[in-house]
Amino acid sequence: MLGLVSSMQATARELVAEVALDAHPENALVADDAPAGVGTRSLRPQVRRATRSALRTDRILAGLVVTVPPLGLLAAIAWPGAHEGLVRNGIVFAVLYLFTGFGITAGFHRLFTHKSFEVPRLVRATFAIAGSMALQGPVIRWVADHRRHHVFSDKEGDPHSPVLGTKNAVSRFFHSHMGWFFQADKSLPSRYAKDLMGDPVVRWVDKNYAWWMVLTLGIPFAAGFALGGSLHAAFVTFLWAGLARIFFVHHVTWCINSVCHVFGTRRYQSRDESSNVLWLALPSLGESWHNNHHAFPTSATHGFDRFQPDPSSWLIHGLGKLGLASKIQMPNERDRARRLI
Ligand SMILES: [Zn+2]
Ligand SMILES: [Zn+2]
Repeated sequence: MLGLVSSMQATARELVAEVALDAHPENALVADDAPAGVGTRSLRPQVRRATRSALRTDRILAGLVVTVPPLGLLAAIAWPGAHEGLVRNGIVFAVLYLFTGFGITAGFHRLFTHKSFEVPRLVRATFAIAGSMALQGPVIRWVADHRRHHVFSDKEGDPHSPVLGTKNAVSRFFHSHMGWFFQADKSLPSRYAKDLMGDPVVRWVDKNYAWWMVLTLGIPFAAGFALGGSLHAAFVTFLWAGLARIFFVHHVTWCINSVCHVFGTRRYQSRDESSNVLWLALPSLGESWHNNHHAFPTSATHGFDRFQPDPSSWLIHGLGKLGLASKIQMPNERDRARRLI
């Protein structure tokens, strides 16, 4: 009898969670705060299996995304004359690294996935375009994958966990870093990102992804030509601030999925293996305080202490001071103390 009651209670909880997730997909993201047994953990992952031809196209594109930027970096290192104009290329590299990096961290991640702050429509469009120019896929797909990661983190259904499966540790690490791009099961946007599918600004940026690909490679070429005055200068800037920059933004982002679920330290209780990794803090613009983030997913700040630098939080609060960001979320001291390990 007791077993029957508890199984009825569990079914009721699942139904409540299903309804909550359908109505507000971002509710999935507070699952880490919910008491054990309540929330979306019990749901089955909502994925669709790509058709054979769609999967082939997808895998070819993923193959290009993981191979072309490192080839560009190698060419930049080996190309005779590619070390001329170091300051010029360094500046264009830094500007585009920060623009596209913040597009992912403050934009795709903290704004669109977790709704940890609000911005006016023009700033929203800028974040969506900047993140798209990091070449990590269109915004709606990125958000759907990341929300699924939070719902099932390090459990069956997580698209990129380094601790799941029977393969050896190196294969699991590779899978979480970039192997998962080649999977046939794709996160259902209608399940995980329905809110963004109904946002005309986000939908427009998402639909025009090909143009942001052209722009992210075209801008460094044009900047190199304008600053260096020759096609050779344009090509060298394209190698450094185009392909090599994309390589670094890619691998730093992917390290959050791989390194920050295997190495590092854990400070807060979370239902996964997420960890904080100091050496990644500045290159990842604050994303590597990943254990803090899994414990408090809707917080706009991930680095809670003075010694946890978080440039994305600095940017969001800077926008807040300019009146361009509002409703900036942050857990209070008491909530943080309650979750300490
Ligand atoms: Zn994670
Ligand atoms: Zn997240």
